[in-house]
Amino acid sequence: MLRPEIRMCIVLLGAALLPGGPCLQVRADVTVTQNEMGISAYEAGRFEEAIAYFEKAYEQAPDNDTLRHNLCNALQAQAKSLADTKDLQPSVKYLETAISVDPENVSPLIQLGSYYLHMNLVRDAIFRLEEAIELKPGELNAHELLGEAYYRDNDIASARAQWDYVLEVEPKRPGLRERYDKAFREQQVEAEFKQNASRHFNISYPDDVNHTQRSQILYMLERAYDQLGRKLGGIYPPSPIQVILYSDDQFKEATLLDAHIGAVFDGKIRAPLTDAAGNWLPEEEVRRRLTHEYVHVIVRHAAGASVPWWLNEGLAETLSNEMSAEEQQILSRTYAQNAAFNLSALEGSQLKKLTPEALRLAYIQAHATVNMLWTKYGHVRMAPFLQALSFGESGEGALKQSYRKSYAVLEQELAHIYQ
Ligand SMILES: [Zn+2]
Repeated sequence: MLRPEIRMCIVLLGAALLPGGPCLQVRADVTVTQNEMGISAYEAGRFEEAIAYFEKAYEQAPDNDTLRHNLCNALQAQAKSLADTKDLQPSVKYLETAISVDPENVSPLIQLGSYYLHMNLVRDAIFRLEEAIELKPGELNAHELLGEAYYRDNDIASARAQWDYVLEVEPKRPGLRERYDKAFREQQVEAEFKQNASRHFNISYPDDVNHTQRSQILYMLERAYDQLGRKLGGIYPPSPIQVILYSDDQFKEATLLDAHIGAVFDGKIRAPLTDAAGNWLPEEEVRRRLTHEYVHVIVRHAAGASVPWWLNEGLAETLSNEMSAEEQQILSRTYAQNAAFNLSALEGSQLKKLTPEALRLAYIQAHATVNMLWTKYGHVRMAPFLQALSFGESGEGALKQSYRKSYAVLEQELAHIYQ
């Protein structure tokens, strides 16, 4: 909320300063006008303009709390309007200015902490959220977000301590109980895990993973980071990227996923190193799964959270794995029977209802579709495709922008190859 009562503040200021000479009164009037114009601009949603007015007024009356408050608010509003269009980088700049204008105000610190979390800059988020709590202990949003930041930093005990407090004060906090239970479950499994790190990855693993295996896995991950970053024309997610390695039993216990799921990315890469019988998986299989999940990290970083399923899985398959002859045959049979999915049916949540066989076909079709795009156009069109999605464009809208194709055209082109 903006405070319009600047007139009163300035009248007081003017009254106190008046003996010094009439020019001060004029200055005060100018300040009042600028505040009022700032308020109208703010109310009309023209935040940039409002900031300019409040800045001018604040320069002339730097001790005025109301002006400081209004300027800080307008900076936060501009940051939010940019963030709503998914443009977080400049939002951060506005919030840093807001914090320097009003360092005792907890609100821009929390807002900045939450944007840093969106950008996966976990350590920066922790720094700002801890500052917020020092300034105003008990602020629930700050405690909840700080819990999330600790969790992503793989410090589950500290995360739970923050969430415990939030749930004590507000037991029905939306979604938090589920987050808490998930973290608790993971902590039960991972409590005794060891940790090791390379330049961009932090791995947690059970005791019986030996030195050679650990080095091999870190090497695989770093190689994926380097190679895929280059292949995609320079996409490098912020680090450290958390990777949790399990036995098959531990993986199921921590994630509660079905037996046919080989690995997952839920903000952290999680993968088993053994099969259900307890045998170590072959090195090539571990590499394939970790690379597949790492592509999801890249996609999340480059395109945000709302990416069509077919693209996310298709790119992860394309960059980790060749299509097998068997998969190509399945696809040919599917097209011969006219039983392929429409791309619009492969966009999201409806996939949860598929049978394992149908899901396998969905993966193969996603793989073949992205493989075709990747082989023809490489990163030159893939990178802008991902970027368009990050700005909130729909799957087909982003495809049209980057590849000049509709879903129907892309479906026909793929059918043409396999028919
Ligand atoms: Zn996947």
